[in-house]
Amino acid sequence: MSTNVSRLVLANATLFDGTSRELTSPSIDIAIEDGRIAEIGPGLAGHAGDGDEVIDCSGKLVTPGLIDCHVHFMADGDFSPNTHAQTPFSMNFFRAAERMQRTLACGITMVREAGGSDLGVKEARDEGLIAGPRMQLSISILSQTGGHGDNWEVCGAHMPGMLDAHPGRPHNIVDGPEEMRVKVRELIRAGADVIKVCTSGGVLSPRDDPQHPHFMPDELDVLVAEATAAHRFVMAHAQATEGIKNAVRAGIRSIEHGIYLDDEAIEMMLEAGTYLVPTLIAPMGVIDAAERGVDMPTAVIDKAKGVVDVHRESVAKAISAGVKIAMGTDSGVTPHGQNLRELAEMASLGMSPGAVFEATTRVAAELMGIEDEVGTVEVGKAADLAVFDGTALDTTDLRNRVAMVVQQGQRVA
Ligand SMILES: [Zn+2]
Repeated sequence: MSTNVSRLVLANATLFDGTSRELTSPSIDIAIEDGRIAEIGPGLAGHAGDGDEVIDCSGKLVTPGLIDCHVHFMADGDFSPNTHAQTPFSMNFFRAAERMQRTLACGITMVREAGGSDLGVKEARDEGLIAGPRMQLSISILSQTGGHGDNWEVCGAHMPGMLDAHPGRPHNIVDGPEEMRVKVRELIRAGADVIKVCTSGGVLSPRDDPQHPHFMPDELDVLVAEATAAHRFVMAHAQATEGIKNAVRAGIRSIEHGIYLDDEAIEMMLEAGTYLVPTLIAPMGVIDAAERGVDMPTAVIDKAKGVVDVHRESVAKAISAGVKIAMGTDSGVTPHGQNLRELAEMASLGMSPGAVFEATTRVAAELMGIEDEVGTVEVGKAADLAVFDGTALDTTDLRNRVAMVVQQGQRVA
């Protein structure tokens, strides 16, 4: 090993390395060099050289940097058209920067941006102008006319929202296979790492029904073919049973929300290896927002109340059937920084704490296709780590336990 490169050694850590559901070791050292994990083993702190920094992590739990597979940095728990209308255009980007920092402070070092942020948001972080999780971007959310991403209102106005087209964010309403082909290409041109589509109605859109499927199979086939040709995965906002099944049949990689899962849908997901990203705190967040006084149509509040219980039942069924679960919060619907609530909710539906951490690290990385880079604590991987006070692999009160966050070898929070 070279002598002039300074190393950071986390010493005496209780390690959950993400390769299984169990704690890896009650006391181990992790050496970080050049942003990567250089060595793992006992006694590394003892041979620390000049300029090496040793941080004693006894009594602390070290995990891979956490991954949230579903966030929206262009919203923050208030999605009323009035708020969008009163927000100066560029203010959205400054606010996103602060929300990204809040997310990073939770130990979340990587996210999938599920609609809203454009390429500049990602590049500003990658250049070091702002701090935040690394991200895969979907940029926009494809919706059929009248679908979950369509802000047209019955008065004839298009209400302002977080998906309005701008030079970095292509228009998101698309109908028919040929338009779909062009739109996926436009999104990839704009910098999308993943394509997001709504294969059903949703909660926050007043004029559609979460129980209706959206887009026809011929449109979804073109979408997946175009994305696949560009080596992109597709994520589907899918709440309706038929919308979920259409997404799985089309070869879409992950079902987001999955509110109305039936046994056949679960069987199909197991067969195809489709991931479920539950976002359990999202409908709860809509109800919280209504209680805080955020101005929303009553149809939206009623829909949120109508889905909370069935959503939990669906996700619990998927968990016990063995569907691959990856953690995602839909933060933006809830205020950013509350992401770790999702882990406790997942555990409340029957996942062991170890399974929850696995879903928030390695399985999330596999969903995003970045498992060679992040998701576990192994030699050669990026040094993305979350450090918690106390050694328990436990999901309650996690936010208050975050002691340190390391991203690409740098202490960032
Ligand atoms: Zn979302």
